[in-house]
Amino acid sequence: MSIHDKTVPASTKEEKREISLQRAFVLKNKIKNYMQQKNLILTGFDLSENFQTKKSLILKYFKASENDWQDWHWQVAHRIDNINALKALINFPQEIYDEIKRIENTFRWAISPYYLCLIDEHNPLDPIKMQSIPTILEAAHSGIKDPMAEEYTSPAPCITRRYPDRLIINVTNQCAMYCRHCQRRRNIGETDNQAATDDIKAALDYIRANPEIRDVLITGGDALLLNDNMIDWILTELDSIPHVEIKRLGTRTLVTMPQRITDDLCTILKKHTPIYLNTQFNHPHEITPSSKKAADKLVAAGVILGNQSVLLKGINDDPNIIKKLNQELLKIRIRPYYLFHAKAVEGTLHFVTSIDKGLEIMKYLRGYTSGLAIPSYIVNAPNGYGKIPLLPQYIMNKKDGKLHLRTWEDRIIEYET
Ligand code: SF4
Repeated sequence: MSIHDKTVPASTKEEKREISLQRAFVLKNKIKNYMQQKNLILTGFDLSENFQTKKSLILKYFKASENDWQDWHWQVAHRIDNINALKALINFPQEIYDEIKRIENTFRWAISPYYLCLIDEHNPLDPIKMQSIPTILEAAHSGIKDPMAEEYTSPAPCITRRYPDRLIINVTNQCAMYCRHCQRRRNIGETDNQAATDDIKAALDYIRANPEIRDVLITGGDALLLNDNMIDWILTELDSIPHVEIKRLGTRTLVTMPQRITDDLCTILKKHTPIYLNTQFNHPHEITPSSKKAADKLVAAGVILGNQSVLLKGINDDPNIIKKLNQELLKIRIRPYYLFHAKAVEGTLHFVTSIDKGLEIMKYLRGYTSGLAIPSYIVNAPNGYGKIPLLPQYIMNKKDGKLHLRTWEDRIIEYET
């Protein structure tokens, strides 16, 4: 690394063009490696043959129709949550079923028929399988249950409050699929439980009584596992509170059960603008024609979409995969928002990467792709002290009133302060 001179001004138009061409050549070379890798990283659009084959098998197994498939209630009621059904639908080696048997009494599993269709059982490192099928690695007796001390940041029923002007209402512990890396797995329990209406009313009363709360995130579990009437009621109540400026929804259904994004739901959401919805795509294989259709419907209803990936070892801890994921998300109008560093939650330690890996990925994004495709890399502080954004080092030092800054290409420049 060196301190670079200011660009020498060119005297003629031709000289300027020549400098520009040389620079364009350098830039083109910087993306050469990604251009080669990019097409090798498939999305769910490229995998539709496998999807259709599995879908036919599942419909036959459950004696179900296309209408059933498109009905999110059917998807929830027919989640695959026992070894016999899984064996009938996916041809895994026997040891995988043995491992599930050893884990399932400790950590619940269930996979929507839709998400199951994304699995490639021939790939032992398939990112969809790793997110959905239990393994013996979950039995490791280390990690903590509640790393963000959510139980100590709940001033009213259903509420988590970690910041001055915003809070969370946890409305259900139910999800379309129980992710193996779930950071809230202690809440998943053995059965699906929706928050009691009286508890939600108490949460709304707390928000009403605290005028500094301007932003409310409804989540769980998965907020969109509530039925339409309940969602409409909560949003209506929030709209009646003058100081609530925006509502947010936390849901992974765009990834795990896009059938949930119905016309009726979109009609409800449209009434309660402004709504921001954050979802969790972790790998390009999850971006499918169905998830695009769900995103299109939400955008048409005026909902603003963001993505909160979790950095997961063996699944997406690769700069090219994260770059492709974020670029593909932008194509379906979902803005990358956060890249969460996985916490040391009990049963999920095998997914935890190093912070250095996260920083390496962030360094590879900045400058190499548009800022829109770059999420904030976040470590959640223990004890509910909130999010800490992490960045590669861009300020190198300060000398004689001048900052030495590093550019995305590792040029060191002087900047007057
Ligand atoms: S959808 Fe979210 S809350 Fe539900 S299991 Fe997955 S990560 Fe956990």
